[in-house]
Amino acid sequence: MILFVGAGPGAVDLITVRGKNCLEKADVIIYAGSLVNPELLSVKKTSCKVYDSSKMTLEEVCAVMLESHKKNEMLVRLHTGDPCLYGAIREQMDFLDKEKIPYEYIPGVSSFCGAAAALKMEYTLPDVSQSVIITRESGRTVVPEKESLRSLAGHNATMVLFLSTNLVEKVQEDLLCGGYSRETPAAVVYKASWDDEKKFFCTVGTLAQCVRENNLTNTSLLIIGDAVSQSDYSRSKLYSPDFETGFRKKKE
Ligand code: SAH
Repeated sequence: MILFVGAGPGAVDLITVRGKNCLEKADVIIYAGSLVNPELLSVKKTSCKVYDSSKMTLEEVCAVMLESHKKNEMLVRLHTGDPCLYGAIREQMDFLDKEKIPYEYIPGVSSFCGAAAALKMEYTLPDVSQSVIITRESGRTVVPEKESLRSLAGHNATMVLFLSTNLVEKVQEDLLCGGYSRETPAAVVYKASWDDEKKFFCTVGTLAQCVRENNLTNTSLLIIGDAVSQSDYSRSKLYSPDFETGFRKKKE
């Protein structure tokens, strides 16, 4: 059996219980050494073989999966955060489907959730933004033109940018040209939930300066939008005394 497991954003106790159980039982683990906390592997069996996918091609990863399957081993493919975001998981699942190898998929806490926790922030504040745009700057991996950062910026919604810190000058320009003001609040979270986590508050106009002055590398998320400042929002209807839901009567 092959198991795709979301490792969570970094802290060893932010993997799911199900994910940790799989790590304990695995005969083989392939983990993304560039971003997954290696301490997560401390629960593995002594006999467990470990591969670092950051040094492997898709073909090499697939070859290890095929080999394990033939030996009837349990293989965990450990992805950072949740595999559904920028995880390159589809191509692996397609290979397994083609080979008729069964697999399961165990979700994880994405780093964008870890970043919200670090900032003690709610991305969806009533009357501020009710949407979160998760995207990246176009670089070596090209973003489809219909989703260009400039066009997405026009919504002025809460935005979380993955994989874009080293393109931050271009990000800032696109955000400004697209429709956020220079004063729009922004934040940068480096290594959310890790022991060396760092967070910085700035504005769209000072975003690039903030990233460069603090030497922030690509293990960071850029969070943009008025929800970052958390002021001037309306309280929720859900918990309002004069709002009735299927679970609660209106308070007179
Ligand atoms: N699947 C992952 C994202 C993988 S793409 C997830 O759900 O989080 C890798 C990018 O994720 C990094 O370049 C960075 O932008 C972001 N990232 C991953 N872990 C992070 C963390 N702990 N703190 C901040 N950003 C992180």
